[in-house]
Amino acid sequence: AKQAGRNGFAMFMGESDTVTAAPLKLQTELIAAIEQSQLSLHYQPQVDAHANLVGVEALIRWRHPERGMVPPMEFIPFAEETGLIVRIGEWTLERACLQQRQWQSQGLGHLSVAVNISALQFLRPGFVDSIERILRRTRANPERIELELTEGALVQPDEQTMKQLHQIRKMGLSLALDDFGTGYSSLSYLKRLPINKIKIDRSFVKDLPDDREDAAIASATISIAQNLGLAVVAEGVETELQRQFLHERGCAFMQGYLFSKPMPPEQLFAGTDDKPWQ
Ligand code: C2E
Ligand code: CA
Ligand code: CA
Ligand code: CA
Repeated sequence: AKQAGRNGFAMFMGESDTVTAAPLKLQTELIAAIEQSQLSLHYQPQVDAHANLVGVEALIRWRHPERGMVPPMEFIPFAEETGLIVRIGEWTLERACLQQRQWQSQGLGHLSVAVNISALQFLRPGFVDSIERILRRTRANPERIELELTEGALVQPDEQTMKQLHQIRKMGLSLALDDFGTGYSSLSYLKRLPINKIKIDRSFVKDLPDDREDAAIASATISIAQNLGLAVVAEGVETELQRQFLHERGCAFMQGYLFSKPMPPEQLFAGTDDKPWQ
């Protein structure tokens, strides 16, 4: 993550800024972004085998006043390094909860809203309290909020981490393991975690169905999930052949450009037909 942070950071700042002045500038700009509403959430549909919309993943966007859209990979790693991720993460969770609440009042209460939680945010004391506070303030339905955690937060979970995961489940939220297979975790810890869902990372999906190794990994992940009683979502599904491969192996949920790109909430239901996101 550190490495990606530096790379993303270098790309973002360009070459004119000095190495020492740059981080402070980005930090100042990121604080301004939070305070001046330059951040927003886009939502990407998650569909079932019949292409019915079952939920969405919230993905953060930064509209920089001069640079335009800055992709999350160019500032999230930096936000993690500086600790700003805690504020950004709270803002994101609150926004997503408000959106769930709004959809609920519009008759779309069945949709689940998945929110990315960075390891630093998750491991910080007070995280569970902040969820409680946000749920109370927004009156969102916790049963429709899903937290996406990466293996980084969950490798060799200690007692405190396990307790926290159980607390979150008790509050009604569900938990998804994001970017599955990209980290260093062993399979043995999987069965101990109180999670609901595994997400197959896009890196294992993009060369399907031709790449034999990726095909084996995707198939094995689906089997593991099924045998552990977990739901499985494939991300980054772009082609009909990928969809077919995953569907034939029993992957119940999918997300990707084949169905829809992430989009602002007001565009998600702008169409009049049955499946406006297609
Ligand atoms: P992620 O959680 O793995 O999210 C999936 C990424 O894949 C998103 O990129 C999404 O736009 C992209 N994607 C989805 N379907 C397709 C597809 O079919 N083809 C291709 N080429 N890409 C697809 P995005 O929005 O740029 O986000 C990148 C990463 O930034 C996310 O990866 C996540 O790790 C992080 N991120 C985004 N929003 C947040 C946030 O609110 N909080 C935190 N902590 N991290 C976030
Ligand atoms: Ca995610
Ligand atoms: Ca991913
Ligand atoms: Ca290969």
